[in-house]
Amino acid sequence: MPILNGDAMTNGSADGLDFSKALEVLKNEYPERDGIDVKTLIDSKVNGGLTYNDFLMLPGYIGFPASEVTLDTPVTKRITLKTPFVSSPMDTVTEHSMAIHIALLGGLGIIHHNCSMEEQAEMVRKVKRFENGFILDPVVISPTTTVAEAKALKEKWGFGGFPVTEDGTLRSKLVGIITPRDVQFHANLNDPVTAVMSTDLVTARQGIDLREANDILSKSKKGKLPIVDENFNLIALLSRSDLMKNLHYPLASKLPHSKQLISAAAIGTRPEDKIRLQKLVEAGLDIVVLDSSQGNSLYQIDMIKYVKEKYPGLDVIGGNVVTREQAAALIAAGVDGLRIGMGSGSACITQEVMAVGRPQATSVFNIAQFARRFGVPCIADGGIQNVGHIVKGLALGASTVMMGGLLAGTTESPGEYFVSHDGQLVKAYRGMGSIDAMEDKKAGVGSKNAKASNAGTARYFSEGDRVLVAQGVSGSVRDRGSITKFVPYLMAGVQHSLQDIGVKSVREFQEGVRNGTVRFELRTASAQAEGNVHGLHSFDKKLYS
Ligand code: GDP
Ligand code: 5GP
Repeated sequence: MPILNGDAMTNGSADGLDFSKALEVLKNEYPERDGIDVKTLIDSKVNGGLTYNDFLMLPGYIGFPASEVTLDTPVTKRITLKTPFVSSPMDTVTEHSMAIHIALLGGLGIIHHNCSMEEQAEMVRKVKRFENGFILDPVVISPTTTVAEAKALKEKWGFGGFPVTEDGTLRSKLVGIITPRDVQFHANLNDPVTAVMSTDLVTARQGIDLREANDILSKSKKGKLPIVDENFNLIALLSRSDLMKNLHYPLASKLPHSKQLISAAAIGTRPEDKIRLQKLVEAGLDIVVLDSSQGNSLYQIDMIKYVKEKYPGLDVIGGNVVTREQAAALIAAGVDGLRIGMGSGSACITQEVMAVGRPQATSVFNIAQFARRFGVPCIADGGIQNVGHIVKGLALGASTVMMGGLLAGTTESPGEYFVSHDGQLVKAYRGMGSIDAMEDKKAGVGSKNAKASNAGTARYFSEGDRVLVAQGVSGSVRDRGSITKFVPYLMAGVQHSLQDIGVKSVREFQEGVRNGTVRFELRTASAQAEGNVHGLHSFDKKLYS
């Protein structure tokens, strides 16, 4: 197009058209919207199987602030979350701490089963018992604990205020409390803590709600508020440093009319998993995920039917699936949700070793489109590396996305940080089909008690297998800080993306994709290079502040 001269600028365009007619011309002469629709995009006969990186959405019209975009979305037929974020049932990703904190932020954590059934049930119990702000498993010491031991405990746990009870356990009579200042300069390290502890205690009675308890704590000017029952037995603890950060989680995943967080856990499909499930249900489980890399099996179908019959109140998510035929079999058996993905996970080598799987974008579209007809929500599982991938999973019809590697480096994932050989702060992350996880060698890296069980092998191998063929690798991921900052970043990112596309909710987004108003574009290899940072001598990729 030539540069417009002054005449054209005032009187009309270079084509002699009046500028004010642009929308009319668009409507009359360009009946096809710019870009392509989703079906054309995912036509694998033409384009092959696609991954999230192979396409983009085109921008729409922004007529509202990003903060108005809502992300409510179903995770099962009956349960809806306020954000689409689900953490994977892997022993380097989801134990109770992740499950609690992601649920507080509106998502869902699926507790892994690479541990004994008792440990897994205890984690479910912790999620159900969690009361925002109350520390329900405080470290408690006994009157015979020495000053030296109390100092060592501070080193170990990172906090130094400990309630003292008669037996040195929770639910025993509270006799005092010590703070780091009590022991800091005490000369005789062998003295018992009773020599230095405070006994003029401000306490609150069990049953008090968080707002009232915080009120007492702030007025008391103390660091801790022990919560006691009518016999002065210690039940819980409130810490001043948590006072502000714990006040309010408006998005928390709870069932209507319940104060408790929603809990979800994974199991296998062997006979002993029925006993495991019984324990999880007794602990208060709301959603069970049947954890198989290839879900279309006799075992899973039997298990779905068993669960639906024995526990009608429990929601079952089946998977994993990547074809309509697999999905149809599980839907017919009665699943309340499906998990999509095979070989797309960041720690996964299934496609390479088994030559089976499917590129994730193609899988998500094909399954979600089919499952929607039966009202079955889908989780896009694996391969999520950034906010854009989350939005693309939703665009293709998934209701939620499941993340492993992206969340494994957060404070709430199991395991300790360590410094990698190149000086980065990292945490271990391993595929559940890695030799490490299968042999449960690394007790303490993933599940604290991984050695207690070989459940991790169940997803990838049958009992008789003598040679373990790895379907995953074991490695590390960079520190991402706490999910209390990271998940709100993901959420704000998704809201901004949907705003760019011009839709105000996940539902409107998916409707727009279906009716062809949300448009797509394929990306060539050079388009992908263009879309990434390029040509800079150096740069710092800080994602949020
Ligand atoms: P202190 O004064 O050194 O005891 O530390 P703070 O009261 O400032 O607590 C620091 C953090 O550790 C807060 O987030 C507390 O919730 C947490 N915390 C303190 N005591 C306990 C405890 O007994 N158990 C657990 N799990 N967390 C605790
Ligand atoms: P990520 O978010 O790290 O890309 O992928 C997480 C997903 O990878 C998990 O939810 C699970 O479906 C899958 N996965 C976990 N471990 C393994 C493994 O060892 N092999 C394979 N094939 N997939 C795995």
